Amino acid sequence: YTRMGNPTVHALEEAVAALEQGAAGHAAATGMAAIAAVLLGLLSQGDHVVAGDCLYGPTHVVIGRELTRFGISATFVDTADPERVAAALQPHTRLLFVETPANPTLKITDLAAMARLTREGRTLLVVDNTFATPYLQRPLTLGADVVVHSLTKALNGHSDVLGGMVIVKDGEISQKIRRFLSLFGGTMDPHQAWLILRGLRTLALRVDRAQANAARLAEFLDQHPRVEWVRYPGRPQHPGHELAKNQMDGFGTMLCFGVKGGLMAGRAFIDRLDLITRAVSLGGVESLIQHPASMTHAGVPREERLAAGIGDDLVRLSVGCEEVEDLMADLDRALGAVP
Ligand code: PLP
Repeated sequence: YTRMGNPTVHALEEAVAALEQGAAGHAAATGMAAIAAVLLGLLSQGDHVVAGDCLYGPTHVVIGRELTRFGISATFVDTADPERVAAALQPHTRLLFVETPANPTLKITDLAAMARLTREGRTLLVVDNTFATPYLQRPLTLGADVVVHSLTKALNGHSDVLGGMVIVKDGEISQKIRRFLSLFGGTMDPHQAWLILRGLRTLALRVDRAQANAARLAEFLDQHPRVEWVRYPGRPQHPGHELAKNQMDGFGTMLCFGVKGGLMAGRAFIDRLDLITRAVSLGGVESLIQHPASMTHAGVPREERLAAGIGDDLVRLSVGCEEVEDLMADLDRALGAVP
């Protein structure tokens, strides 16, 4: 009975757990189902969560608004600043939730520093490693207790299936997650697992290619007269560049930038792209672009969004495996056509 376990799903759980150097993996129907299993499976009434101020929009909404219905409070902080995290931790803080590189600002958080802070108390360090993938970053080896993934993204890589995974290193936490998923039913279907296992085989090839493209595009956009600013962890100007160099094996496939003229110019630019598709997903072989303020992060209150650095002009680009010259030509033509 697949809700309790399935051999194909188990093969995927073993593969992703091995990549993350964890003790066990627990597959979920989606990335959000994996995140829900961690939050609801490990937290209880009266607990407190500290979370990064820059997270995938629905994660922010679940932690900041949904958990309060169960008596679980949260504080959002800039996790790139360990002192702010230290100040936010309280005696009843049970969980610290971090994304690095963060979605969509690509802010980098020092995971070893976060682990040093949480180790002092009963706090679990949970890292959403979707953006980096275990090919580029393995948070459990840096002291995290739990890693979550949206397998919908680069681990599958073909934008044709949803999936999530919780990877743990502790037996007790492992049992709680397994129990939660099978009781509440957010488990994975074997057909999903089979497709993701197929995608996983080319993870390194795809990430290598897309990452090389991303580095080229970051430089190209930086020099473009219609572009106001560019943020990519691989650029020495990025405030987290040195940290990313130390804790990651590469700078990833995501970048963000602002088009001169702000929100309207950014929208007009996206409308004029031809090869690059407007869509909210990421990590696929095809490049996708989106505008977080009106798409993925529309549910986050504007003041909170702006305070976290997600400006109205921010455009997020997930770079794929296409010919980089074609991508540059598409960006150049669309930027040139902005009124
Ligand atoms: N975490 C991150 C960093 C994401 O970008 C996403 C989706 O975009 C999710 C989690 C949620 O994943 P899913 O759509 O598979 O539920």
